[in-house]
Amino acid sequence: MRSLWATFVVGLILLSGSPTSVASPIEEFSQDSSYDPLDELLQTIENAAAPRVMVIGIDGVRSDVAQISASREDSGFARMVSEGAWTYDSKVGPISISGPSWSSMLTGVWCDRHGVMGNSFDNHKLDQHLDLIDRVERHNSSLKTASLVYWAPISELIIGPEIADIQERYGEDADVHDRAVEILREDLDLDLLFVGYDDPDYAGHVHGFSPDVSEYVDAVKLADDRFAELLDILDERISRGEDWLVIVTSDHGGGGSTLRGHSASSSEVDLTTFMMVRGGDTVAGEMYGSVVVDVAVTALTHLEVPLPNGENTLDGRPLAFQPDSDASRVPNCSAPLVEVTFSYIVPIVQVGIILVLAVASFIFFKRRKSTFMDEEE
Ligand SMILES: [Zn+2]
Repeated sequence: MRSLWATFVVGLILLSGSPTSVASPIEEFSQDSSYDPLDELLQTIENAAAPRVMVIGIDGVRSDVAQISASREDSGFARMVSEGAWTYDSKVGPISISGPSWSSMLTGVWCDRHGVMGNSFDNHKLDQHLDLIDRVERHNSSLKTASLVYWAPISELIIGPEIADIQERYGEDADVHDRAVEILREDLDLDLLFVGYDDPDYAGHVHGFSPDVSEYVDAVKLADDRFAELLDILDERISRGEDWLVIVTSDHGGGGSTLRGHSASSSEVDLTTFMMVRGGDTVAGEMYGSVVVDVAVTALTHLEVPLPNGENTLDGRPLAFQPDSDASRVPNCSAPLVEVTFSYIVPIVQVGIILVLAVASFIFFKRRKSTFMDEEE
């Protein structure tokens, strides 16, 4: 805009051709321009001090396996424990399934409000409950937000299309991670980064969610290592004066009721995961009473985004900042029976079809054979 104006002014000068008229447009230009070096310096300082948030969610991390990973020297989880608030006893609510839990994490309300009871997202009410990114954007659209995920429903249904300034989905955690590294290194305007990894959940479903299954343990360690790399980059930015809050957690455990599952479980192993927070007003030390809905509320509090009140009050609390927070409301979500049975419906129908076909062909060939023999006789 300014260069357009300058071109216009220069054009006027050239057209006028008089030396006296040279001074006046330039004077006018400098008066009209809002440029002030002091203002710019203050703006830079303000930008550096502006609160920023990085939320890292890793699908399907059991608490005990997060702890195994944190016992390693270079673990990102271990750094969070030594530098912030942490717990290996964070609850995901009554349903240990990705859909409900990621929804709770990002909206800050429980399943009985957002209505997501399973991965089908049937009858969800997410349109009535803003996710973290939407809330930030509506508060101040000039804040720069980014969401990078593996699992499509997080981006398409929970956050919704075209909400974050950068909103991308990748088919591999490695690609999600590379992009996160790139954005954190290069995007100095970034205010909120959300990253959703998936490898531990995948390894758990294929090999088993267990501290005794090496494939699963290795997947958790790899996610931890990736997180540690993001933390390193963030720490460089923090050393330049930026103010970052970091939250890392998962949407559920696994292996509690069945080795390769975690669906809608009443098992504590499935319903429990880890939660770690560092930066801002975090009170370092172990957290008690941590729940997945705390994520959105803690992030919004750090970003100084006003929280809704009255009947719209969110269920989470900024527990890491206020260790004495009241307990979170206990949600009343109906058990997702459909979700549990659905995974069995497909194989049952398949087996049924095969049986019917087998019986039908048996009868058909038996009849043909008897007709053939009748004809022979
Ligand atoms: Zn999950």
